[in-house]
Amino acid sequence: MQSINPFTGQIIQEYSEYSSTEVEEIILKVDRAFQSWKLTGFEQRAICMKNLQAKLLEKKEELAGIMVAEMGKVKREAIGEVEKCAWVCTFYAENAVSFLKNESIKTEASESYVSYQPIGTVLAVMPWNFPFWQVFRFLAPALMAGNTGVLKHASNVCGCALAIEQLVAEAGFPDDVFRALLIGSNAVKAVIENPLIKAVTLTGSTPAGKSVAAAAGSVLKKSVLELGGSDPYLILEDADIETAARLCVTSRLLNAGQSCIGAKRFIIIDKVYDQFKAEFVRLMSEATFGDPLDPQTTIGPLARPDLRDELHQQVAKSVEMGATILLGGYIPEGKAPFYPPTVLENVVPGMPAYHEELFGPVAVLFRANSEEEAILMANDTVFGLGAGVFTYNIEKGKALAEKGLEAGCVFVNDFVKSDPRLPFGGIKESGYGRELSVVGIREFVNVKMVVVR
Ligand code: NAP
Repeated sequence: MQSINPFTGQIIQEYSEYSSTEVEEIILKVDRAFQSWKLTGFEQRAICMKNLQAKLLEKKEELAGIMVAEMGKVKREAIGEVEKCAWVCTFYAENAVSFLKNESIKTEASESYVSYQPIGTVLAVMPWNFPFWQVFRFLAPALMAGNTGVLKHASNVCGCALAIEQLVAEAGFPDDVFRALLIGSNAVKAVIENPLIKAVTLTGSTPAGKSVAAAAGSVLKKSVLELGGSDPYLILEDADIETAARLCVTSRLLNAGQSCIGAKRFIIIDKVYDQFKAEFVRLMSEATFGDPLDPQTTIGPLARPDLRDELHQQVAKSVEMGATILLGGYIPEGKAPFYPPTVLENVVPGMPAYHEELFGPVAVLFRANSEEEAILMANDTVFGLGAGVFTYNIEKGKALAEKGLEAGCVFVNDFVKSDPRLPFGGIKESGYGRELSVVGIREFVNVKMVVVR
């Protein structure tokens, strides 16, 4: 396994994959750690979690640097990501006790209640695009619930995986409550089948999700899946077009467009289409790509050359089939896998840009003749992660959010963001289950009924 700096092309470090025996030994240790960690109180767990929060903030420059080097994220965003990880640690340190307290239910018995108990070691299979945040939003609730965890991170971010493992140890958690497994995706099935692994969560692409869900289903273990998205944004006739264009561009370009909840499809009511298009293309054209360490850079390179080439294929094939390029759409000179901010229109069913997730700075504009048509277009996708509506009429925005758009998260007059306080996840081929908030911490617990006569 290699970490390669996408900007410089240099190999940062090579790692040997752990053998199946090494993996089994680690899982055994993590299970042993669970046997005592599950008996600790929330107060003790919260002390460790707050230490972890402090360690993250203390080392944020260094940790951000690992992300920049391994996957090309711009430094400013990498620092923000570490700070968000610190937030989720504080959030669960402070709230786990109330989220998991016993709940009385009135019955004929003298006492009846629900008790939330940890289940054991959970496997987390994670992607490279937010290599700290994705892990922490699993890790913080899992450990606060009394579970232990093993992490199979994406193969190109082994340095991030090991840095997180080390941080947890430095924060004073007992040995082995959280361990990284340096393994390839072909070794995941055997880990899921290990009797000491009690559940699995995967954040990644839909094909990876289907494979992990099948493996988990075959041994009857619970899974949570956070998968891809092709988030639609509706721009209604009464929207503040300048604000809508600005927020849509911000969302589309965040993390060089490599975000599951990046705004990807823009469905604009005919009457305001040209105005939105002009503003949107103008703002997209202002973005600069370059060295992720340079504070002037808006977007860094994509994480790997193969990912950039795949994205360009999706664009090129759509153009061959009749799509129009308004901006970008070419492979820039040089070795680093940059892709320029790109805007397409005249995209119709059958084209890759219509159906597939575009994991990079590529936006597609669609013209809709009515709100009804806009909703049909928004929902004409296998994905159902996030969505947005821009409108002056808040009641209408809420109605479309609640009843119109097929998605797990909908924002009115803003772009979708994850937030420790709010449940996050998707429907359809974007997955199932939720992370974050009270809902996320209850995914991997035994909801135990206790009745006393
Ligand atoms: P990916 O190729 O699916 O990889 C994600 C993780 O799954 C990696 O650790 C990968 O390991 C592993 N993996 C891949 N195929 C597997 C298989 N058949 N069985 C078991 N494990 C497998 O995704 P990615 O390219 O890293 O990330 C981009 C995708 O993640 C996008 O589709 C994006 O939308 C999605 N994503 C979703 C969310 C969300 O919250 N919904 C958040 C972020 C990203 P290797 O690296 O070793 O292949």
